[in-house]
Amino acid sequence: MILPSRQSQVLQLIRRHGPLSRQELHRYMQLRPNTVGELAAEMIRQGLLRESGPQSIGPGRPRRPLEIDGRRRRVIGVAFEAGRVSACDLNLLGRRLGVQYEHAARQAKELVTAACGFVERIGLDGVLAVGISTTGFVDPQSRCILRSSATAPQPCTPLDSLYTAVGDRPVLLANNMHALAAYWLLSQHQDHQEDVLLTHMGDGAVGAVFLAAGKPNRGCVTGGNELGHMRLPVDTDQCICGRRGCLERICSSAHLQRLSSDPAANLIQRLRSFHPADEPLVRILEQVGLGLANLVDFLRPHRVVITGPLAQCPAFGNYLAQVIRRSTLIPLGDWVKIDVWDRPRCTAAEAGAWLALAAIYQGEGELPGLSSPFRAGKTPRRTAIVR
Ligand SMILES: [Zn+2]
Repeated sequence: MILPSRQSQVLQLIRRHGPLSRQELHRYMQLRPNTVGELAAEMIRQGLLRESGPQSIGPGRPRRPLEIDGRRRRVIGVAFEAGRVSACDLNLLGRRLGVQYEHAARQAKELVTAACGFVERIGLDGVLAVGISTTGFVDPQSRCILRSSATAPQPCTPLDSLYTAVGDRPVLLANNMHALAAYWLLSQHQDHQEDVLLTHMGDGAVGAVFLAAGKPNRGCVTGGNELGHMRLPVDTDQCICGRRGCLERICSSAHLQRLSSDPAANLIQRLRSFHPADEPLVRILEQVGLGLANLVDFLRPHRVVITGPLAQCPAFGNYLAQVIRRSTLIPLGDWVKIDVWDRPRCTAAEAGAWLALAAIYQGEGELPGLSSPFRAGKTPRRTAIVR
């Protein structure tokens, strides 16, 4: 827990309803007026809240609503992706404060060193927490990136120097899809009781996260739900995982070129001018849709969210939705909601920072959807092998 639960609850309430007076907080939280007064004073002192201008709403003393202070406190986000690392800082409202730093490198060690330099340049004054996101798998307990396109071929990249660079600030280390989900939950979505399959679809890059009642499913290792490496019996180029037939190899310009015998074929361009007679493109959409439909059968989510660069082409989301509805078990196809989130306005580093914001806004149990979903938890260790 980064903040005491009552402070997190105040931030959540003001984020949801806008500026609130102490009286309104007293009613929402069912706390004694004195307790609310002390809580507000402490949060103002800590730079979490500020008083907005007085509002006269009739006779008597004008009320002084409390709003989230966007000037004094902030979070840092760091994102490791294939061949690059980036970092930036956001205020408590999720708005970018300074520039975004970026560095391209092939060596994992160089990426980590660059990240340390970014943190030094951004500075730690007023920083409440740091979110670190990466592709692939992580072990928050041993502070390592495990298998990841960002650090391949290294099986394990220690982040000790980065943890040292952020000093005593809490660190949230998670997969990049978890980071995107943190942003989605806090910026787009209100019903934290739903089970949601959030997918990110790009040209040759497919990711997913499954949120059970607002929390990423835990699993045996911290990572995204590897939709991109779901395999179908399709002859594709070799995937970064070393295998063939992975969904993210099917969902790629390279595969479209192979099917079309056209070395210049581009998936996004073809989707923009989609025609049902485009047989190679339709075959790709059918196979990607089938992968998603299998997941819907398996997970029975309330909602599937399709986002990423391909989701900006209306034909992509529409076609996948059709395939999911007609390929899943009856009655799942009629019940599952399918959303296309076409323009997430968030860079990878910003999404990393939203990991930290999610942890700040989460209470300990008040709003179940925000309770501890994105905090670095203990990774269960394998204690026995069943043969
Ligand atoms: Zn693969």
